[in-house]
Amino acid sequence: MAPIPQQDPVARVAGVPVDTRHWIGGERVASAAAFPDHSPVDGALLAHVARGGEAEAHAAVTAARDAFPGWAATPPGERARVLHRIADGIEARTEELARVETADNGALLRSHRRGVMPRAAQNLRHFADRLLTLNHEDFETRGHSNHVSWDPSGPAVLITPWNAPLMLATWKLGPALAAGCTVVLKPAEWAPLTASLLAGIAHEAGLPAGVFNLVQGYGAEAGTPLVSDPRVRRISFTGSVPTARTIAGHAAAHLVPTSFELGGKSPLLVFADADLDLAAGLAVEQYDNAGQVCLAGTRLLVEESVRDVFLEKFLARARELTLGDPRDEATSMGPNIHPRHLERVDGFVRRALAAGARPLLGGEPHTALAERLGGTYYLPTLLTDVAQDSEIVQEEVFGPVLTLQTFADEEEAVRLANGTRFGLAATLATGDPERAERVAAQLVAGTVWTNCFFVRDLSAPFGGSRESGIGREGGDWSFDFYCDLKTTVTAPAGWS
Ligand code: NAD
Repeated sequence: MAPIPQQDPVARVAGVPVDTRHWIGGERVASAAAFPDHSPVDGALLAHVARGGEAEAHAAVTAARDAFPGWAATPPGERARVLHRIADGIEARTEELARVETADNGALLRSHRRGVMPRAAQNLRHFADRLLTLNHEDFETRGHSNHVSWDPSGPAVLITPWNAPLMLATWKLGPALAAGCTVVLKPAEWAPLTASLLAGIAHEAGLPAGVFNLVQGYGAEAGTPLVSDPRVRRISFTGSVPTARTIAGHAAAHLVPTSFELGGKSPLLVFADADLDLAAGLAVEQYDNAGQVCLAGTRLLVEESVRDVFLEKFLARARELTLGDPRDEATSMGPNIHPRHLERVDGFVRRALAAGARPLLGGEPHTALAERLGGTYYLPTLLTDVAQDSEIVQEEVFGPVLTLQTFADEEEAVRLANGTRFGLAATLATGDPERAERVAAQLVAGTVWTNCFFVRDLSAPFGGSRESGIGREGGDWSFDFYCDLKTTVTAPAGWS
């Protein structure tokens, strides 16, 4: 790709000025080259964004390393106050952040306004408050005191995907900064803009220079030098399995601990004793964000005896989905992120159809809408007659594509549910609490929802089993990751 020179450093996106330069050591930093950032809503060019590489990554890690001793020594109460001020800034600018995020990644504006941005602020408040109650334990053995302290580990690299950019950035930033780490954030190249706004908000909130740095660019160019830098002490990554493998290779060279939140192929199990209206509603929710949700229960597993009734209820609800411009209040499903991604989603569907799958809903791009709006839209899709070992059942599509399989009994339900290499989440619909407990205990999943979906307290651990991830984030599990625990053993007075 021929380098595009960076021109005006400030773009106006949805009426909001967004600085497209990096943020390093408390200053905006330009690059010689830029990359184009298009909107999935209508294909419009939103900005030319500074395209970082080795030099920017090196400068950002240097800034984070230099700022580390000061931030680590800042009293917890003061760190917490700064985090609350950043949360105040997010709340004050919710409307701007929501409009820019929707333009950039195509998720619904009303969800950004009412759900995502408030939750992003809450991420920071939660870890600020948690820091103040962090358990510094003491034990005693043969008169010797054993004091356990949570020491910040050093500069951390945070790498985020495009499907929930600000939400996931704050989910990492909150605990990292609260713990006393300094950070370099590398947002996804398909939706980098709210990260730049966040850098400005953090600066206005009084975060010292170098504590939060932002490097933008492509994964191979800007991400690789960050995750290969020996001065980095933690890498927290949310994204795909193949990228995690690459990052793990770099991290291994310096034995840097990694936290990986990766993909999934989660099941949604519907038992005959379930409230089938509730189950159908839960199933249609899996099209949220046009299916670009890591946790989505994309494999509908339904007890044979209720398959037809469930399907009828599901299709009735799915046909009520309003596809369209995500800025419209009435829209319930917007675009997919990028033409290349849409092609990938469609490739999975075409190969499944060629292998014998039958579409019960959708099965192709929404060309009429794409022609009218100019963006990248796919029809909500449901495929049946799919084999358990087929690609469409085993691989993450990350689009609005669900599969429908049936099971005869609980044993088969669990076997099908656990029958992929992932283990991020699972959803159960059943009217029998004992069955819920029994089945949940057998599922391989970081989160199991019973008769609900997507609800979670920020204190509870979140993460994936098997290839869905390494480690857990949330509550003290996040502090555990960003800290080096130290035990100081002291002899009793007069001991010799
Ligand atoms: P991706 O792996 O392609 O990219 C994620 C990030 O990694 C981007 O910022 C990218 O630039 C960067 N990157 C790419 N190559 C890199 C390298 N060599 N070194 C360092 N960084 C590099 O993923 P994506 O397409 O942006 O996101 C979709 C994936 O994210 C899906 O698999 C989805 O399930 C997953 N996801 C998981 C969670 C979770 O919490 N488990 C949440 C959201 C998304």
